[in-house]
Amino acid sequence: TPAKAAIDWRARATEARIDGRCLIGGKRVDAAEQFEKRSPIDGRVLGAIARGGNVEIDAAVASARVAFSDGRWAHKPPAARKRVLQRFAELILVHREELALLETLDMGKPIRYALSVDVASTASCIQWYAEAIDKVYDEIAPTGRNALALITREPMGVIGAIVPWNYPMIMASWKLGPALATGNSVVLKPSEKSPLTALRLAEIALEAGLPEGVFNVVPGFGHEAGEALALHPGVDAIGFTGSTRVGRKMLEYSSRSNLKRVFNELGGKSAFVVFPDFDDLDRCAQTLAGSIFFNQGESCNAPSRLFVHESIADDFAKKLAAEAPKYQPADPLDAKTVMGALVDETQLRTVMGYIESGSAEGASVLAGGRQARSETGGYYVEPTIFDGVRNDMKIAREEIFGPVLSMIRFKDEADAVRMANDSAYGLQASVWSSHIDRAHRVARALHAGTVHVNQYDEDDITVPFGGVKQSGNGRDKSLHAFEKYTELKTTWLRI
Ligand code: NAD
Repeated sequence: TPAKAAIDWRARATEARIDGRCLIGGKRVDAAEQFEKRSPIDGRVLGAIARGGNVEIDAAVASARVAFSDGRWAHKPPAARKRVLQRFAELILVHREELALLETLDMGKPIRYALSVDVASTASCIQWYAEAIDKVYDEIAPTGRNALALITREPMGVIGAIVPWNYPMIMASWKLGPALATGNSVVLKPSEKSPLTALRLAEIALEAGLPEGVFNVVPGFGHEAGEALALHPGVDAIGFTGSTRVGRKMLEYSSRSNLKRVFNELGGKSAFVVFPDFDDLDRCAQTLAGSIFFNQGESCNAPSRLFVHESIADDFAKKLAAEAPKYQPADPLDAKTVMGALVDETQLRTVMGYIESGSAEGASVLAGGRQARSETGGYYVEPTIFDGVRNDMKIAREEIFGPVLSMIRFKDEADAVRMANDSAYGLQASVWSSHIDRAHRVARALHAGTVHVNQYDEDDITVPFGGVKQSGNGRDKSLHAFEKYTELKTTWLRI
């Protein structure tokens, strides 16, 4: 068969349909105000986006409440919900090229990953929760009395989902999959920096047969639409993914309103600990570069702090420095590109500010360190590695959310574990050692929601994802996510 012709993504970009209106009660509706959205690829205006506020959030919550209360979704048998969500997953793949293009135009990631990672994971997440929902049983308590105590899981009602811009579709799917499968209605507030795919997902869900009002999307700014949703007394729980700063506010909003449940999935500063006994330092360096520079470093679990034993540090630094140029930023719409643009000018300034602060505090630049492709009008930064970092420097303590790695040398195992755990965050960590006893010991000592041993790339919808300390209190993915979107109910039944 002849090879499929390469897609001309640039040409498609000029024809992309941009519709930034809200989707409430199954209909696209205008908000009272709009804002202009630029593409990080070249700074060009993509279109007008609804600037949701109290009015739009009130309408979306009311529509979600009616859809929940009349049972049009919650009372369907799980097998019926499964079929709709399976169709939703299939249609995401039918629309894969359009969704990938919107994701790339909106937030600057390479089109190849928008297709192979973002669209693919979003569809498989929805598919997985669809398949799971009719295989979950409730319980009967072993009371031994003349009564049965049924312990059932009931949908919570209206879920407010507030998500960030770095993986807009995937983050939405981690909320939508378990929340919709268990029968809830959802009001989703995407990031103002990347609202387009969430809106298309809601249209695709309608096309798949999801009843109107079950999945509503209100774009807008955090302090307007986001705050209105998190404070709303008609919302039963908030599934939040974003920064630790805003996660704190979610708890405040809850205490100021109706004590709604808050599940926070927050920032990270993940440690990557390399011992001299690890037998394949080339693979280790390749994995580290691939992980820290993936998605332009805009990943919550980016391994941004490298702890390497002093005896191998110089050698390891050379290997890393040789990896960095492979991630030179290029046009995100070119299918060969592996590093795209940062999400916006503010993020570019933030990342460049951290790079300046690293140099000012005495760390030395091993690779990168500069802005790139400024002639395009877009927001690009070179893959950057700092050597000579101390764990008390700003670049080692704060989440940069850009392609910047801090390399810190350690003397012995206790030193490595102490520094790795000396962080406000605890999302992920990794340990690299060819000795199983050491690998186990250190993995156990590292304070993080996920610890990787001798790899960093494994990921799967079947395992929980979340952090400890200020990285949050919730867990997305896996069957455990059903716990977030359901309430336990006990029913005593005289027999
Ligand atoms: P952010 O906290 O600025 O914004 C996240 C969302 O909250 C956006 O939709 C935003 O509009 C909204 N928001 C902002 N201020 C608000 C307010 N006052 N009230 C209500 N809503 C508000 O985060 P970001 O810059 O979009 O995303 C990056 C952060 O997300 C990083 O810290 C990253 O580590 C984190 N993240 C965590 C995970 C995880 O699973 N733990 C995954 C991806 C990203």
